[in-house]
Amino acid sequence: MSAAAGRSRFVARALRQRGMLVWSGIVLLIALASVCAPLLTDFDPNVGVFGDSMAAPSAEHWLGADRYGRDVLTRVLYGGQVALLAAVEAVAIALALGVPLGLVAGYVSGWFDKIVMRVVDGVMSVPFLVLAIAVIAAIGPGLANAMAVVGVVYAMSVLRLVRGEVLSAKEELYVDGLKVSGVSGPKILFGHILRNIAPPVIVQATLMFATAIVAEATLSYLGLGVPQPTASWGSMLSDAQHTIRENFFFVIPPGVAIFLTVLGVNQIGEGLRDLFSREIAVGRLGLNVVHPAPRGQGEPVVEPGEPDRPVALEVEGLSVSFPHQDAGRVTVVRDVSLRLHRGEVLCLVGESGSGKSVTAMSMLGLVSHPGTVTAASIRIGDDEISGLDFAGMRSIRGNRVGVVFQDPLGSLNPTFTVGNQMREAITAHRDVSRAEADRIAVELFERVGIPRAAERLADYPFQFSGGMAQRVMIAMALSCDPDVLVADEPTTALDVTVQQQVLDLLVSLRDERGMAVLLITHDLGVVAEVADSVAVMYAGQLVETGPVSEVFTRPRHPYTQGLLDSVPRNELATGPLASIPGVVPQPADWPDGCHFADRCPFAVDACGGEPVPLVLLPDRTRGVRCVRSGELDLPGLGDHGPGTEPVREHADSHVEAGRP
Ligand code: ADP
Ligand code: MG
Repeated sequence: MSAAAGRSRFVARALRQRGMLVWSGIVLLIALASVCAPLLTDFDPNVGVFGDSMAAPSAEHWLGADRYGRDVLTRVLYGGQVALLAAVEAVAIALALGVPLGLVAGYVSGWFDKIVMRVVDGVMSVPFLVLAIAVIAAIGPGLANAMAVVGVVYAMSVLRLVRGEVLSAKEELYVDGLKVSGVSGPKILFGHILRNIAPPVIVQATLMFATAIVAEATLSYLGLGVPQPTASWGSMLSDAQHTIRENFFFVIPPGVAIFLTVLGVNQIGEGLRDLFSREIAVGRLGLNVVHPAPRGQGEPVVEPGEPDRPVALEVEGLSVSFPHQDAGRVTVVRDVSLRLHRGEVLCLVGESGSGKSVTAMSMLGLVSHPGTVTAASIRIGDDEISGLDFAGMRSIRGNRVGVVFQDPLGSLNPTFTVGNQMREAITAHRDVSRAEADRIAVELFERVGIPRAAERLADYPFQFSGGMAQRVMIAMALSCDPDVLVADEPTTALDVTVQQQVLDLLVSLRDERGMAVLLITHDLGVVAEVADSVAVMYAGQLVETGPVSEVFTRPRHPYTQGLLDSVPRNELATGPLASIPGVVPQPADWPDGCHFADRCPFAVDACGGEPVPLVLLPDRTRGVRCVRSGELDLPGLGDHGPGTEPVREHADSHVEAGRP
């Protein structure tokens, strides 16, 4: 983001907020004046002086007196009390009913949700006035009853809003995480989800407050609200209507009171929406900051790439933990250190659940809320992220790193054209005009190989195939001209030929722009294709790191070998495809010793017990976490089957890099 664009957005934001402040002041003034009405005026709002009937504004009656000789200003002030109380009643009922029902309906779904939603549809299909008249006919007149009806009707829209928010919150990673770690439903619902969905509910409540004031005025105007002669803005309008031919003026005071209050409360609502919008976005993504940890105490950083090139991304001692019901907190990523140079592709591989996504996302502060990220250092180029606050993090993330996710269509907003979204991404990072942004968008589309680039900008995401949509995502990630591109399983959802094209694109971008690519995948075929170096991850730890050519031909960790054995090759030559028995255990079940020991064909007693350190080979290009790495002779991608017996090598082989 350029300084000028950043500043202009900041000014725009401040101005909007200043508007909200002014309106808050006006509304507060109206509320205070209403509450303090008895102190401000000596007139009785409901009893008039006959002689003053239809008096024009004067020093005694600032806003005149109505046909019964009642002071208009006094009635406006007391009317304010009625309006505010009525609105508070309706909104309180709406929240008290709508929030819990919406939470539960959204969370449990099933028959409860179906019944509740039928009731909601039923209530909402009847205009509230009709409903109010029916209820008043049944339980008797009075403003309190009428506003209770309004409250119930509003509760329906609160319920809908909350239910919708819960339904989408339920899909989020952090909720899955909480469920997996055994947190109870009510605790997830009221402890976590409710907090995340509070902003839209608060905004909605504010806007409802404004409409409740109109509803009160309407009901009182129709005689369904306060009984005569009680002062209310609505009943005043109704009175004024009787004398409108004699004096038009009496419509104005209650009209202005309603107008100012409703407009003011609405403006506050809009202001809150603005204020929250960033927080909502933050809550949605569950953004987090990286807490600094002491340096130099973690495990060594492996240097698999070419040490002469500048470092694009370096991570030292990255750990991520999540709350867990039984274990307090579980660490799902433990002391990960990586170094990635400009112009290199580093592949992070491992089975599903090994912690690859959490590793990558935590580097960028994209880990969902209850997670805690600590790192001795996370450097992107020369910028240190660890210890930065949210704003600092955002400027680095947005400007230096592009991110591409697995599901391209899910990452694009279906209601805007891709051109619109491209333009937004471009102007977020560069201070350019609309036309210029469009030109850049076309250029990026052409670069990522989208045919008819200019035309396709006008298309919506659903008009793109999976492969093309992934190209759009890559183009969008490139819009900030990143030094580092993080791609989390970018080709997993694509078919083989398209996958190949997207991989080719990533490689050519690396060559052309000197970009560093951190590519996450579970597919070793992909790694063989594009990677310069590889980091194998298992159960939250790096188990082996090194240049891909060496790791693939001469792996030193049985887990790497297991992954290599499961790469499809010529079946006639190698026999049926092997797989590693079992699955990655849940983080809470990881043993103290080697995490892989339970599934390892080579496990011995020494593998249990003590944590296994990552050992660096002397030239620092490779690291391995296995107590037996020196004695095992693993065949790598060679044509041995998985059942190869361990072969003893001479004792010092584990300190030698590369092939024996
Ligand atoms: P991968 O990308 O390698 O398939 P992930 O990084 O998504 O794996 O997940 C690693 C581990 O972290 C998993 O065991 C998962 O259950 C856990 N995990 C991920 N996100 C959360 C979360 N928000 N809360 C708790 N645990 C989580
Ligand atoms: Mg993942």
